[in-house]
Amino acid sequence: MADQIIVSKFGGSSMADEAAMERSAKIAQRQNSSIVLVSATYGTTDKLVELIKTAEQGNWNGCEKLLFTIREKHFDIFHKASNNTDIGDQLKKMLRELETLAKGVFLLQECSDKARDQVLSFGERMSSLLFAQAFKKSFPDKEVILTDARDIIVTDEQHTKARPQLELIERKAHEHFDFKNNRVYISQGFIGKTESGSTTTLGRGGSDYSAALFAQAVNADVLEIWTDVAGIASTDPRICKGARPIHEISYDEASEMAQYGAKILHPTTLVPAMQKNIPVFVGSSYEGDAKGTWIKQKVEEKPLIRALATRSDQALLTIRTPKMLNAVGFMGNIFNVFSSHQISVDCVTTSEISVSVSIDRSMMEHKALVKDLEAFGEVSFETGQALISLIGNKILSTPGLARDLFNSLGDINVRMMCLGASAHNFNLLVDEKDCNTAVQRLHEKFIEACQ
Ligand code: ADP
Ligand code: ASP
Ligand code: MG
Repeated sequence: MADQIIVSKFGGSSMADEAAMERSAKIAQRQNSSIVLVSATYGTTDKLVELIKTAEQGNWNGCEKLLFTIREKHFDIFHKASNNTDIGDQLKKMLRELETLAKGVFLLQECSDKARDQVLSFGERMSSLLFAQAFKKSFPDKEVILTDARDIIVTDEQHTKARPQLELIERKAHEHFDFKNNRVYISQGFIGKTESGSTTTLGRGGSDYSAALFAQAVNADVLEIWTDVAGIASTDPRICKGARPIHEISYDEASEMAQYGAKILHPTTLVPAMQKNIPVFVGSSYEGDAKGTWIKQKVEEKPLIRALATRSDQALLTIRTPKMLNAVGFMGNIFNVFSSHQISVDCVTTSEISVSVSIDRSMMEHKALVKDLEAFGEVSFETGQALISLIGNKILSTPGLARDLFNSLGDINVRMMCLGASAHNFNLLVDEKDCNTAVQRLHEKFIEACQ
């Protein structure tokens, strides 16, 4: 039996090259992690997405170039770590399979979601093979067991954003894992398998979610997310130089951050952790000793505004109809349309004759959506919008918050705002070109000035 069950996930930047893999292995060993999940090597999933697109366009030369880059990157790591022929052969076999799949997409000039998941899975499958090798090299006395995540993460058939089947996952995990202090299981984030055996993925950035599912299934004591920044900051450090580290944050606040675009955590990561009350640590694999962030149920300090998150490329969709006047069921009909297209709506406002919602702009590509909505009224939309979320506590009961917010935004136009549904957030929709300035001004007012 292991003393404690720690599930640790290392993202793409922590798998960037052989040195990053060794650094990550050292952290996992120091933490005495029981299960280590890894993402694809840095940039590889993007390259696989590009490979599919290039094959669909019928450009085999372009595909060969991409396959060459992917091959070189992985063999470079392999050669630097060791020359274990068995691992070299497994890597070669995977790359051959990937090439065959790409050829299939090229010949058909189309890629089903099922085939897409199969192609994307190679990123995590190759990186975990190499990471297991790096781990063995650094810690030869450790028992390293490479586990195929598809044998544990059972999902439904919804390819590219598959939903996990929790009971089955728990059962598989109980059958598979036998934790011991000197043993580590290494596996992949992001991928799963349907009951009928086809490979699925949990959506881009989904390795965080996989880690939480593993943690939930094995009743872990701690879930660790190791990435390229030392924990969660008060806003994306790339947007705002004044971003401050957050050392402790509640599940509620961190979930809102993830939901509203803070890329550091996949939106659904915290759901499994919250269900089992598993504390989550977020830290940097580049600065393994830095303080990082703890996400847990109860936190000591509950500031009015803890953080700001942003989501770009939003659209504002308005359905306008005189029929809405006193029309019972109008809203229900509109939301049924969104739900039948599996589109989630973020902000909603209504007037006597219209309803406006904000959605991801990419959802507008569902041509049938607009057609179905037109059955209920005139549809118009504005793109180029960004959603800014202020996340904190007591947002509904703090007088003067809206005044301070609009004062600090100054001349920036707020196209839509949503306040009232949760004490933890206040959402604004602004023109994309104003988004960074708005975040900087709000950050200065509500976070920097309050510390
Ligand atoms: P990984 O590959 O490890 O999963 P990601 O790139 O998905 O890493 O997430 C880490 C990135 O999230 C950081 O490099 C940072 O730019 C971005 N990020 C966005 N919002 C925040 C925030 N509030 N705090 C910290 N990082 C953030
Ligand atoms: N490799 C996958 C992606 O880039 C999953 C992840 O990194 O979380 O989306
Ligand atoms: Mg990520």
